[in-house]
Amino acid sequence: MIPGAQLPTVRIGRQGARRWRSLHPWVFRDDVLDDGAAHPGAVVRVADDAGRALGVAFWSGTSKIALRAIARDERIPDERLWAERVGSALARRGEHAPRSARRVLFGESDGVPGLVADLYGAHLVLQVLTAGAQAIAGTIADALAAHLPVESVLLRNDPSVRTLEGLPREVRQLRGTTPEAIPIDEEGVTFVVDPWRGQKTGAFLDQRENRIAAGALSRGRVLDAFAYQAGFGLHAAARADEVVVLDASADALARARENAARNGRSNLSFVEGNAFDDLRERERRGERFDVVMLDPPAFAKSRGDLPAARRGYKELNIRGMRLLAPDGLLITSSCSYNLREPEFEEVLREAAADARREMVVLARRGQAADHPVLLGFPESRYLKCFVLRSAGSPR
Ligand code: SAH
Repeated sequence: MIPGAQLPTVRIGRQGARRWRSLHPWVFRDDVLDDGAAHPGAVVRVADDAGRALGVAFWSGTSKIALRAIARDERIPDERLWAERVGSALARRGEHAPRSARRVLFGESDGVPGLVADLYGAHLVLQVLTAGAQAIAGTIADALAAHLPVESVLLRNDPSVRTLEGLPREVRQLRGTTPEAIPIDEEGVTFVVDPWRGQKTGAFLDQRENRIAAGALSRGRVLDAFAYQAGFGLHAAARADEVVVLDASADALARARENAARNGRSNLSFVEGNAFDDLRERERRGERFDVVMLDPPAFAKSRGDLPAARRGYKELNIRGMRLLAPDGLLITSSCSYNLREPEFEEVLREAAADARREMVVLARRGQAADHPVLLGFPESRYLKCFVLRSAGSPR
């Protein structure tokens, strides 16, 4: 028997096949010619319009992303394949991966489409985003536990994208008991992570390296906007005189306050509010900061959101730039994968022109190394972080 012959076959059009052959892991629904009557979440054989085999993938019955590549050959994924993927993901991160908290699996980038896993101390938090990944979550948890000292596994399956896949939103204990407060260390700063209720899986591990870099550059008066648990602000607090921590969420600020106390820092103040309004008000009052950090949530969740998202990023960055003291730093991020780095840079250029501030690019940064980028999958490089210095007085 031909390997893979017993799987349903999904046939895709020319454009989809071209994308597949470029090693992109997604095929969109518009590119599907025949769904082979596959069930949602099924492993399917993928073929081009002429019926030539392309490989195997997870099929989604509902999402715009119809197929997520598993392999480019006819292998039928079994426990061994997933165990190998987990093994290579851990090996890729190497000995230098942060000990205390790290992303151990990053979906497509680690060959496990639709699934992410973060490790906080000895506690593993899995997030399953697709129907296909749902079926392998237990196998993946076992494979991770075979390599790592895992005491508990929590399924943090409450992101809204799950509804696009027809999956329920839930938070569920899979193994052991996951604490509600896990202290983690980030280069000398302690954060307390709550994997049950915190945002994402409890922390934004993707900004780790940028927070550390931003801390080293900090001085004087600092504004940490979209702060969550004051990730950037607490790194800044070691060098700055004063840090204003701003977030719209009271829960986030409660965590930020606890973290400040735990780190023995008293030079932070906390403001609950909408950053767009708060920054406008500070500008009106003529306030100035030596460092402004902007780390908003993704404004462009789909390509359709892009025009509005660009306007949002532009407005925010204009306000951030106007608040800078001479030679002040703007550390500004975008985590929208739909907005690529050159487009984000263009938005920043437009913002600088409107704000009438000449800005020097000190660094173009991305996500932490434990969120690997696949060259054939530009969407995997989703986090952009620019470090800009105001070139002196307003022009
Ligand atoms: N900088 C953080 C992560 C930020 S995530 C870190 O390094 O850990 C984005 C944050 O923006 C969330 O905490 C969310 O509550 C907050 N947020 C979303 N919309 C906001 C708004 N309009 N104004 C202020 N904060 C907002």
